Amino acid sequence: MHTVKCFECGADVEDEFADACPRCGGILTIEMDLDAASGMRPADLRKKPIGVWRYAPFLPVDERNAISLLEGGTPLYHCKALGKKAGVKSLHVKYEGANPTGSFKDRGMTVGVSRALELGCKTVGCASTGNTSASLAAYAAKGDLKCVVLLPNGKVAAGKLAQAMFYGAKVVMVDGNFDDALNVVKTLSREGELYLLNSINPYRPEGQKTVAFEIVDQLDFDVPDRVILPVGNAANIWAVYKAFKEWKALGWVDKVPKLTGIQAAGSAPIVRAFQAGKRDFVPEEHPETVATAIRIGNPASGKKALQAIYDTNGYAESVTDEEIVAAQKLLGRTEGVGVEPASAASVAGLLKLVDTGVISKDERVVCICTGNVLKDPDTVMRSCEEILKAKPTAEDVKRVIAK
Ligand SMILES: *Cc1c(COP(=O)(O)O)cnc(C)c1O
Ligand SMILES: [Zn+2]
Repeated sequence: MHTVKCFECGADVEDEFADACPRCGGILTIEMDLDAASGMRPADLRKKPIGVWRYAPFLPVDERNAISLLEGGTPLYHCKALGKKAGVKSLHVKYEGANPTGSFKDRGMTVGVSRALELGCKTVGCASTGNTSASLAAYAAKGDLKCVVLLPNGKVAAGKLAQAMFYGAKVVMVDGNFDDALNVVKTLSREGELYLLNSINPYRPEGQKTVAFEIVDQLDFDVPDRVILPVGNAANIWAVYKAFKEWKALGWVDKVPKLTGIQAAGSAPIVRAFQAGKRDFVPEEHPETVATAIRIGNPASGKKALQAIYDTNGYAESVTDEEIVAAQKLLGRTEGVGVEPASAASVAGLLKLVDTGVISKDERVVCICTGNVLKDPDTVMRSCEEILKAKPTAEDVKRVIAK
């Protein structure tokens, strides 16, 4: 059992298709009834394989209706070499690039698309910087639903675009940025043309909570001191917060890690609000960054993110595109872990915050790396050494590699 509520005024929201509070326009959230879980012990969960649906008692959709591609269950890498370089006691990377469509979006989508089917919807849709559309297109295919995705003009990474097209969605590029595309898809949803599956749909973050459950599960309930993640629309940091709060309420964890959100310098409204000590933010009119998945000027869940950060004694910081690309390479070349630029923002943020003394050397840190390196091959190839050219002889190959 669960109820949909307004995050801002607390009203109960009955309309199953609402994308905002009918009373105050605030963002929605779900309050889970944890009674079913309260008689359980954490070990009981382990009867099922690790993945999103292991945590079914914490999800607002009946498991029997699940449209699943076996999402979640991603590796938690113990990155000893990179942790040493960064200068922290321990570092783990939660590698969300290992999800079915290559990003954490699949965790929310399995729940969101299952919900769409529970409601009898025939068409689902979203606005997307890329990964949401890739994920929705795949789950819509699995659930036999029609799918419409709206992308901002020109700035979608090749891997993501290819996926949305491949899984058979109607792919529409609108002449505007992400925030413009979101406004259009909201209107389509209000007109009944489609069921909206952006992360303002409160069922999405419920699925995304499972990344935090898995981290705790994989660390055998030894909760880390800090979790660092990139922030775009800001639903994921909220989801992680909500997960820890639910398990804390049950006494399954004894503390909530300091949640630390990293934005790109050209797209950092949450960081500015945090620096000013505010609980609300001023949108960035012209967001710019190489990390297209977090190129968001008006984060839909921005107020939720600020609560997550303040309430956990966390932090918000921005990193430059150069720092992002450098961290992406460092992670790849130190640990063999390939992530897309937005995901590398978490590692870039770690390096910066250790440098500035915000993160102390005795902390046990987990960086959530949200998406796969293959999502954005163009950025990778721009930042790497050039391909060497040689004649088809061993001698000439020896000559060029010796340089
Ligand atoms: C969606 C996405 C983000 C941002 O997540 P929010 O919930 O919008 O803050 C970060 N990285 C990647 C790879 C993403 O796809
Ligand atoms: Zn409200």
